[in-house]
Amino acid sequence: MSAFNRLLVTTLPLVPKPIVRRVASRYVAGETLEDAVRVIRTLNREGAMATVDVLGEEVSEREKALAAMEENLRVYETIAREKLDANVSVKPTLLGLKIDEDFCRDNIGRIAETAKEHGNFLRIDMEDKSTTDATLRIYRDLQARHGNVGCVLQAYMRRTLGDVDDLPAQGASVRLCKGIYIEPRQVAWKGYETVRANYVNALEKLILRGVYVGIATHDEYLACAASALIDKHGLKRDQYEFQMLLGVDDELRRILLAAGHRLRVYVPYGRDWYPYSMRRLRENPEVARHVLRAFLAGK
Ligand SMILES: Cc1cc2nc3c(=O)[nH]c(=O)nc-3n(C[C@H](O)[C@H](O)[C@H](O)COP(=O)(O)OP(=O)(O)OC[C@H]3O[C@@H](n4cnc5c(N)ncnc54)[C@H](O)[C@@H]3O)c2cc1C
Repeated sequence: MSAFNRLLVTTLPLVPKPIVRRVASRYVAGETLEDAVRVIRTLNREGAMATVDVLGEEVSEREKALAAMEENLRVYETIAREKLDANVSVKPTLLGLKIDEDFCRDNIGRIAETAKEHGNFLRIDMEDKSTTDATLRIYRDLQARHGNVGCVLQAYMRRTLGDVDDLPAQGASVRLCKGIYIEPRQVAWKGYETVRANYVNALEKLILRGVYVGIATHDEYLACAASALIDKHGLKRDQYEFQMLLGVDDELRRILLAAGHRLRVYVPYGRDWYPYSMRRLRENPEVARHVLRAFLAGK
């Protein structure tokens, strides 16, 4: 990232929330589940699948974690009732990981059970390095118990190739992404090309282990490298999917769908849109520039 873009991004937290919200709204379906349903219907009509994320993270009160758990149960019921092609992604810290690991496991376990009752699937997102071990423990435990749970590995983490070796032998489903949290060099690869290289290495290792992979990226280089690996290893259409975030590069989404790949869009909704949107804006200085322009113009 250039020095100017870095400055732009560090200035963002000073911008009033209403202005951030206007520009960041492209990344979020809306505040309610009904908003998410509307967005998913449109995506499904285009041939894309969805994964729903109830926004929020880092809760420190049990009541909030339980409310988030209940909301996730409502999401599965709604997906089934509305016959949507969608599953759910959850953040462990929203479900109480920072309160107590067992409490969090119980909450995510309850969601996995409900998913199973509806013949559906649950993905556990990966957050910052302080959560990696506990998240993978919860994943392995719940996948062994319910068989319908997947995890996320981050290509910027130095440990990732080792984590691939520790996945369950049968039925593992992994979303592979670059990683979004700001981590120290001691644990994370830092070079842009280095992260790409580790992504490709991890992807090939996952494919060779027979893991179902969610190839989560908007990086055209990686979409191209992934397509080559899919071809090289003769993967069938139901052995992988591409994944993208709502509001990012709709054109690439349509290109991948038109090429015959399955593709899932991450659809977040809820009132706690701010931290999620700030991470998205940090990734894209172009959009961050719009936010600051609106701020400076007093809009
Ligand atoms: C479905 C999905 C789920 C994810 N889940 C997790 C998770 O659980 N844990 C985690 O740490 N990270 C997660 N991420 C985020 C991921 O780690 C990356 O930070 C993010 O995808 C950007 O990396 P990239 O591979 O797209 O490459 P980049 O090099 O960042 O982006 C490639 C190109 O995509 C476009 N682009 C990227 N981001 C934006 C944006 N916000 N707005 C507009 N254009 C953009 C730009 O044109 C950019 O040049 C997820 C990403 C996806 C797609």
